[in-house]
Amino acid sequence: MTIDIRKVTVLGTGVLGSQIAFQTAYSGFDVTAYDINDEALTAAKGRFDGLAAAYRADKMPGAADGKGEKTAAAIALSSDLAQAVHDADLIIEAIPEVLSLKQDTYEKLAKLAPERTIFASNSSTLLPSAMKDFTGRPDRFLALHFANLVWKYNTAEVMGTPETDPKVYQAVVDFASAIGMVPIEIHKEKAGYVLNSLLVPWLNSGMALVAGGYADPEAVDKTWMIGTGAPNGPFRALDVIGLTTPYNILANSEDPNGQALAKWLKSNYIDKGKLGVATGEGFYKYGA
Ligand code: NAD
Repeated sequence: MTIDIRKVTVLGTGVLGSQIAFQTAYSGFDVTAYDINDEALTAAKGRFDGLAAAYRADKMPGAADGKGEKTAAAIALSSDLAQAVHDADLIIEAIPEVLSLKQDTYEKLAKLAPERTIFASNSSTLLPSAMKDFTGRPDRFLALHFANLVWKYNTAEVMGTPETDPKVYQAVVDFASAIGMVPIEIHKEKAGYVLNSLLVPWLNSGMALVAGGYADPEAVDKTWMIGTGAPNGPFRALDVIGLTTPYNILANSEDPNGQALAKWLKSNYIDKGKLGVATGEGFYKYGA
């Protein structure tokens, strides 16, 4: 039996869920976006309008002719979970990164969604194995992980559990391509997938050089950029990401070196309100 994906429901319309819903609808799929209440759905509407403007500004194909505005209007909004998922071929879950919340949600979906429906989690840090037993269909469940600003930074990391049916995995890889993503196939479960497995140690190594008094942030970035041809070094990247998430990752690590870096980041930057580009200053100063 071939797996046909046409109707897609996205759970959670926050930073990532809104982008996934919009990009999927922009690519011609029938999309329903679910969030917990009308207030969240009103915010979602605003996010979709903002994305239409961003696609226009970034000259995405068709955006100049109003395709983004049409897309924003075409996404069905719902705060009724049963109604939102009753005919979905694929559900992409982008709700907060709280394991118990995700498990509860999958338990509900297991009862409400048709048997054929594939479930995919956009979780950044949780492994699909921690959720699969709540889905009622571990063979039709996997992780599909997008990067922030999906239309520009268009990787989609696809990671199953040992129980994911290979045909389901392939259908999700094909779906990712169909919505303009570059699918990255991950052969077994790995915290951090590919991207963060590379990025996090790189950022940490940069911070260890500065915290250890070996070099200044500017010197570290300059070395990396001149020595490898990369457009950015780790400190410029940290400022763009925002310092709070890297701090949380370090503070929660079991490695004492990670804990020490967390303290350094907190007392020198976070406690001084230097959180990166968003606050006008991090390792560098921005704006006026
Ligand atoms: P967010 O806080 O911006 O959005 C979460 C949304 O989920 C909100 O709209 C909230 O109202 C809604 N929500 C809360 N409880 C819900 C429930 N029970 N059912 C449905 N919706 C519910 O979060 P985000 O940054 O979009 O992250 C969502 C997921 O995407 C997380 O798993 C995160 O790890 C992952 N992710 C985030 C990024 C990122 O850069 N922000 C990148 C890749 C993956």
